[in-house]
Amino acid sequence: MLKGKRIVILGAGFGGLACANLLRESLSFEHKITVIDRKDYFLMGFVNLWILNGKRTLEDSKISLSNLNGKGISFLQDEIISINPSEKIVTTSSQKHGIGYDYLVIALGAEYAPGKIEGFEKYGGFNLYDVEHMPQLRKEILAMERGKIAICVTGFPYKCPPAPYEASLIINDILVKNRTRGSIDIDVYCPAPIPLPVAGPNVNQDVNDLLDKNHIGFHPSHKLKDVLNRDLLEFEYADNSKEYANYNLLIAIPPHIPPLVTKHSGFIKYGQNWMDTDKFTLKTEYENVFAIGDITEIKVNHKVSIPKAGIFAEGQAKVVSQQIVDHINNKTSNSKFDGKGFCFMETGESKAGYIDTDFYNTEGPATILSPPSEESYRKKIDFEKNRIKDWLLSYP
Ligand SMILES: Cc1cc2nc3c(=O)[nH]c(=O)nc-3n(C[C@H](O)[C@H](O)[C@H](O)COP(=O)(O)OP(=O)(O)OC[C@H]3O[C@@H](n4cnc5c(N)ncnc54)[C@H](O)[C@@H]3O)c2cc1C
Repeated sequence: MLKGKRIVILGAGFGGLACANLLRESLSFEHKITVIDRKDYFLMGFVNLWILNGKRTLEDSKISLSNLNGKGISFLQDEIISINPSEKIVTTSSQKHGIGYDYLVIALGAEYAPGKIEGFEKYGGFNLYDVEHMPQLRKEILAMERGKIAICVTGFPYKCPPAPYEASLIINDILVKNRTRGSIDIDVYCPAPIPLPVAGPNVNQDVNDLLDKNHIGFHPSHKLKDVLNRDLLEFEYADNSKEYANYNLLIAIPPHIPPLVTKHSGFIKYGQNWMDTDKFTLKTEYENVFAIGDITEIKVNHKVSIPKAGIFAEGQAKVVSQQIVDHINNKTSNSKFDGKGFCFMETGESKAGYIDTDFYNTEGPATILSPPSEESYRKKIDFEKNRIKDWLLSYP
């Protein structure tokens, strides 16, 4: 009979892995930590871009989640089908009687709904956020001799706001090296009037300048409505008027939705799109249930929410793991999420800009983009390497 507590973490992504490891470092082995995910591997989101630019292969990038077992964290590969916070039970496809918990961390991320864009799948659009699409997308970019590449942001919120612009700059780089850039246009279409609505005017100007410098077209206020056929896109403006654009290769950041299990289990209430969680403690309204990362919507003001990015999921995981440790040790927890984060925005030619953010800044959210450098690119590589090592490769 287990004397300690049962901590169950739903989702072995950025937030779930950070949380499980921090808990394991702080709690003795009488406390059981279980992580559940339908996937059997972890891969960081931005690795999609490294597969796209040919620096990585898909198979070399997947790290087995069964490595968690060697660290004293039980990993269960399974589909989570319901969460019952009143009985403190999670049900999965294989564990229909349920897995009980004393503490639950919901870190189920965001899912994609490309089917919401009519014609997108039928006419062979590529999902930039689906890593399985990357090898074929790279092949098609390399095989293209002339034409138009359209990169469409289909709606907000979406993960890692700079990623579509990074992708456009990386594709620019691939085409330059392939000596086809002169006969291929790259256009980014975005429903917002500026590239990064979560960032301030200076960062948006910097992104616009980067795109201009590399002759990448930016089309603001363009919401992709339909893919009409293999070479025609239909966009809709806020006043319902339409515009059409030709394309030869379509890449989209599809609409994002919360995993169905959170909806079916009643965690997303009428009028909400994502899970509600306390902006500092990450506690939900249910006893000992926390929600972190992309599954949440944390409003900073009436316009801005914490962006869906791994760095915030990780920052929140730190807070939640400390909250749980303190609670188990009967201590009052002072651990609070500070709204701070950073990321490296790749710009091609093995360079990256550094974006530093403070969303809880008293004078309003603050974002700074430092100019691209090889040093920031190297730091991005280390960012991934260090986390993979800490979360999945180092053993006690
Ligand atoms: C191209 C790209 C580039 C990016 N670049 C950056 C970057 O530079 N910096 C940065 O900070 N972030 C970046 N991100 C975003 C980052 O990957 C996400 O924000 C982060 O992964 C969110 O962490 P999470 O723990 O909330 O969710 P996830 O990491 O998505 O994990 C959720 C997990 O839950 C599992 N799951 C969901 N539903 C179920 C279910 N019913 N049953 C079982 N398992 C389930 C999923 O399989 C998944 O593994 C990027 C993302 C992409 C796509």
